[in-house]
Amino acid sequence: AFISLDGIDGTGKTTQCQLLKEWLEQASVPFTHCVDPGGTDLGAKLRQILLDNKSTLSFRSEALLFMASRAQLVEEKIKPALKAGQIVLTDRYLLANLVYQGHAGGLPLSELKNIGQFCTEGILPGRVFILDMPIEEAITRRGRSADRMEARSLEYQQKVREGFLKEAALEPDKYFVVDARSDVASIQKKIRSETLKFLHS
Ligand code: C5P
Ligand code: MG
Repeated sequence: AFISLDGIDGTGKTTQCQLLKEWLEQASVPFTHCVDPGGTDLGAKLRQILLDNKSTLSFRSEALLFMASRAQLVEEKIKPALKAGQIVLTDRYLLANLVYQGHAGGLPLSELKNIGQFCTEGILPGRVFILDMPIEEAITRRGRSADRMEARSLEYQQKVREGFLKEAALEPDKYFVVDARSDVASIQKKIRSETLKFLHS
């Protein structure tokens, strides 16, 4: 089973991923957790390149660096874990590319989907949690830890949020939108109960 968490920055993705991991650990369920971009040696370098070169990267080269990081992640981590029957849990995945570089960046979605298919060999999560909240609140919550990629215009970030919601509406069986303004524990409760449903489906 393959699950991912996504959403705009500041909504608490990493916290929710961590709590989900702890839950799986306590239940002795074998799983692999990874971050995208990142998750491999190459991925970590590409992630750094992305964060350091934001102002000069075109949306196309940005998209391809994310894709390359993901291709390596699929090969090194995700495929072997799924083959071993483990649950795979990722902090972001292909959806982020469709939203950040597609819906918000203006790149053609069908082309991004084709490249995404190529890079992942079609290995996609069966359940995607999207943490959602108004942009203004997310920005406040990020505080001073905002990285360079998060410093983009409010308009861009608004399109990112809307992109997540648009994609979610297209495939309601796959995407589960969570109101990230709720408290950490009740968000986690929802994610766990949906995860159980997904694992038993
Ligand atoms: O969520 P994470 O911290 O891994 O994201 C790193 C940065 O990359 C964030 O600023 C995020 O907004 C940005 N990002 C992006 N396009 C993607 C995925 C992440 O601009 N496809
Ligand atoms: Mg971040």
